[in-house]
Amino acid sequence: MSEITYVNGRYIPTGEASVNVEDRGYQFSDGVYEVIAVSDFRLVDFKPHLRRLGRSLSNLDIEWPCSERVLKIVLTQLIKRNRLRNGIVYLQITRGVAPRNHAFPIEKIRSSLVVTVSRSGRPSAEKFTEGVKVVTMPENRWGRRDIKSVSLLPNVLAKQFAVQNGAFETWFVDDEQTITEGSSTNAWIVLAGQEVVTRPLGNDILAGITRMKLIELAKAGDIRITERPFTLDEAINAEEAFITSTTSFVMPVVDIDGKQVGTGKPGSVTNNLLA
Ligand code: PMP
Repeated sequence: MSEITYVNGRYIPTGEASVNVEDRGYQFSDGVYEVIAVSDFRLVDFKPHLRRLGRSLSNLDIEWPCSERVLKIVLTQLIKRNRLRNGIVYLQITRGVAPRNHAFPIEKIRSSLVVTVSRSGRPSAEKFTEGVKVVTMPENRWGRRDIKSVSLLPNVLAKQFAVQNGAFETWFVDDEQTITEGSSTNAWIVLAGQEVVTRPLGNDILAGITRMKLIELAKAGDIRITERPFTLDEAINAEEAFITSTTSFVMPVVDIDGKQVGTGKPGSVTNNLLA
């Protein structure tokens, strides 16, 4: 069965799916997105993803394309039509179609909704057992990284920088020499005394759903989490480091900018959180 994509009310074979060239998502990257994991045909953490989507939309003054109830039906239908047992759903909402003009259209337009699925995604088992390398670059993104905007050029270039340097992820370093986050992941370190540190929420990072879930789990499991910015220096000298995201889950980091972290193997706190 060919993969099916949802575009503005229609389920279409992916090869035939297309959007209008005057869609403001295409013209201006005037849109937002979500990536939701699918496990055994079910959407994982659908509600928090929906809440974050609502925040992204309202921050940019983009209309919902449909009700939340209908959106859930669309996602569920797409999972069914693609027989997607495990993978991810990608959904994108843009401001809609209008003659190209930077300012929002004066007349109300309908926002566009595109949904695709993917079977691949989870990194190899070896990455979880061996850990991955991270490189760093100066933070160069806009000041509203809490909005899950499709405007991802700095993130794209940062991930390419990682690939070109044989690394899995690039961490952004701000002017204070603290790590904000990765190009598509949140960043964490573990300090002496098993203290887990991650940056607090704000405009400078995306509020990761995996981050939120992990904090909940850690609290329930008596693992101490401190939400504060940490420096690159602290990270390199930490006992352990890891990254989180819907697709990377909890991924151990064993090397930062060519310097070994801890023992150079995934640490026990990271493995515990992963488990
Ligand atoms: N930060 C950025 C910049 C991201 O793109 C992502 C992945 N969407 C994350 C963090 C992690 O978020 P989540 O756990 O919701 O996948």
